[in-house]
Amino acid sequence: MEILDGKALALKRRAALAEWVAAHRDKAGRAPGLTVLLAGDDPASATYVRSKEKAAAKAGIQGEVQRLPADISENELLARIEALNADETVDGILVQLPLPQGLDEDLLLDAIDPSKDVDGFHPINSGALWQQRGQVAPCTPQGIMHLLAEHSIELSGQHAVIVGRSNIVGRPMAELLLQQHATVTIAHSRTRDLPSLLGGADIVVAAVGRPGFIQANWLKEGAVCIDVGINRIEDGLVGDFEWQGLDQVARAATPVPGGVGPMTIATLL
Ligand code: NAP
Repeated sequence: MEILDGKALALKRRAALAEWVAAHRDKAGRAPGLTVLLAGDDPASATYVRSKEKAAAKAGIQGEVQRLPADISENELLARIEALNADETVDGILVQLPLPQGLDEDLLLDAIDPSKDVDGFHPINSGALWQQRGQVAPCTPQGIMHLLAEHSIELSGQHAVIVGRSNIVGRPMAELLLQQHATVTIAHSRTRDLPSLLGGADIVVAAVGRPGFIQANWLKEGAVCIDVGINRIEDGLVGDFEWQGLDQVARAATPVPGGVGPMTIATLL
């Protein structure tokens, strides 16, 4: 089974990016600027934001994280987003999700200038993506596309089954695979007989958030397995695929950690 090593490709892409940033800085007179708004103290979000902060600094991007209290008001957050929209030294704005309870996620994400929406969650950007006019796609599915391309995984005419229908992974993943001429099925918690559906899939993308949920014996011989899930268990981080026995059936798979996760950050930058 071929390991689709996201860590290695992410390092390669980040090195190329650092060169691009250095050249851009000389031309533009400043480094590109990325500001992250982190409200509350969700430990997983704090870890993700620290990784983004470190990776941005390494690439020479001017990164700023505004760490805000969980009880920040919607108006205060809106005012901060508007100030960043108007700030010419800020090229990218990211509101870290999930937001603390009581804050209207749609309202706040909609307030970001679509041209600074690095996550690609603004309805202008997600709508444009579905009309094949997208300038920016959500980082996780876009990172997966880079990884598939790096490993020359054939997509045209292949049956891809995506398990999970979130706005940040499943739905944009479907469009990106469709653009590369895959035949796409999206499965979710109401899908009947998932094992049979997966038994016909050439490519399986799992974005469920349940440790070891997808069993190797559900899969077709030669399937390509993309594991988006990040699940913290006692022994550390695991994905949504049951790793045991996977190498007997799959042609290729992304490990967790070291697969999709690092590609998400590299693609964001
Ligand atoms: P989400 O919004 O919670 O979506 C989970 C999806 O799984 C839902 O569509 C749900 O169906 C579906 N599902 C739940 N139980 C199922 C079942 N028994 N059979 C089939 N489908 C089922 O999650 P998300 O934000 O997309 O994230 C998914 C996972 O990916 C999480 O572990 C998250 O931490 C991880 N993640 C990783 C990265 C990365 O960079 N590696 C990025 C983003 C997310 P319904 O819609 O019917 O409820």
